[in-house]
Amino acid sequence: MIERRADFCEYLLFEHLYAASAVTHGVFTRRGGFSGPPFNGLNCSVSVGDTREAVLRNYDVIVREIGLPLVSARIAHGNNIAVIERATPEEPLDALRARLRATIVDAMITAERGLGLFWAFGDCAPLLFYDPRHQVVALAHGGWRGAAGAIGPRTLQTMRDRFGTRVEETLVGVGPAIRTCCYEITDEVRARFADATPIARDTVIIEERPMLNARDDGKPHLYLDVTYSNVRQLLAAGVTPDHLEVIDDCTGCVGLNRFYSHRMEPEVDGRFGVVIGLREE
Ligand SMILES: [Zn+2]
Repeated sequence: MIERRADFCEYLLFEHLYAASAVTHGVFTRRGGFSGPPFNGLNCSVSVGDTREAVLRNYDVIVREIGLPLVSARIAHGNNIAVIERATPEEPLDALRARLRATIVDAMITAERGLGLFWAFGDCAPLLFYDPRHQVVALAHGGWRGAAGAIGPRTLQTMRDRFGTRVEETLVGVGPAIRTCCYEITDEVRARFADATPIARDTVIIEERPMLNARDDGKPHLYLDVTYSNVRQLLAAGVTPDHLEVIDDCTGCVGLNRFYSHRMEPEVDGRFGVVIGLREE
């Protein structure tokens, strides 16, 4: 992992993706930016109470660092996947963006140069993919629903079906998410994994233990590791360990001063930005 500081932002880079000259990417922290209290930083969501002006300025900071315009489909909290491409080579970016506002998915894939696939995260795992042979990138949103729907393996499958991607050649970065130390789940969530496809069911990490904090009632509770449930799925799907990099700081505790957490900091509820794209030639 590489740490970068720039004007009005700070971001992390996966070493294998950084070494790939065709790719530009970044996992932006909450530091820098133009959002006022309670966000005080580089909040990347307009739907959490921040001003639109501040968030747009924050996007500009990211665009300047990444060097590509940002495009986003709407997040579904499910496991649908979209291949992002212009309808024609001349389609204006604004027309593509308008189409994407009606596209509701949990993974975006593109083989087009010049598009920064972008989403804002706050506890769900950002999954970044790069197929160097076919020049394809993807960004997936691995929250508990995404993990229960095997969004990582399904993204790889779609890359293979559409572009011929070989999983064992694909570089994957898993960004920060919430982990068992902080993420209590319900029995219903556990049941969703029990009923999931084998790859999601057999790799999920759920811990049963007392709460271990001031609210402890002496009873066992359930905790989910969002980061490593996604990681184990990706390995089970055939991603080579050498090609997998993980930022394992839990967003709810050790990573909280660096990222945002919907779960552990609901009074702030900011979102940090993650981007991956193929540079223009
Ligand atoms: Zn934690």
